[in-house]
Amino acid sequence: MNYAIAIDGPAGAGKSTIAKVLAKELKLIYVDTGALYRSIGYYVTRQGIALEDTESIVAVLDSLKVELRYVDGIQRVFVNGEDVSDYIRTPAISMAASAVSAIPAVREYLLATQRDIAAHNSVVMDGRDIGTVILPDAKVKIFLTASAESRATRRFAELQEKGDPATYEEVLADMVKRDYDDSHRATAPLKQAEDAVLVDTSGETLEQSVARMKAIVLKKLAE
Ligand code: C5P
Repeated sequence: MNYAIAIDGPAGAGKSTIAKVLAKELKLIYVDTGALYRSIGYYVTRQGIALEDTESIVAVLDSLKVELRYVDGIQRVFVNGEDVSDYIRTPAISMAASAVSAIPAVREYLLATQRDIAAHNSVVMDGRDIGTVILPDAKVKIFLTASAESRATRRFAELQEKGDPATYEEVLADMVKRDYDDSHRATAPLKQAEDAVLVDTSGETLEQSVARMKAIVLKKLAE
């Protein structure tokens, strides 16, 4: 019987890093749902469509095929057959993803893709509305968070490593805006599911957070 672990929370809390480790150790498929919204944000931006132009964004969905494929166990995201995975991790695409994700038609469009993967595999799925909307029956639900400063510090270090010129102040400001927008949109806002366990990783090392998460997951799975 397939089961799901849902991890939701704001940007930079360590969701994807921790989910990847859990997936490997528990032999589950890791599904990074943010990549789906990012791929649409990227496509729309590349088409020159303004992020405020909801009508044109919705119209584009008809001609769009967004797919997740696994290459050597690593998730890649394809838009109309093109692998866009390497282009979607910039600060500009983070903001574009957040903008398109507030459009109900975009969320509706991506719903089946997410549920379909979970129907056919045991998964660790991370995002903003996995425990609340996408997989409300997930066996384990975790709401992973950390202070804005500690999340921005992590994200800044990741971007620096990639040679991105963004300053810490810009990363922090973008993160605060994205969290606010994600938490205040009308459709599927970022919020803790009633039955989710709250985990705050502020000030912890990755190893500490992974160990804590693993203990929570194993306990829940044994219930
Ligand atoms: O998780 P990540 O930072 O890659 O997500 C990018 C953006 O996509 C988020 O800021 C959010 O607006 C949107 N998103 C969402 N629902 C999800 C995953 C991501 O709205 N399940």
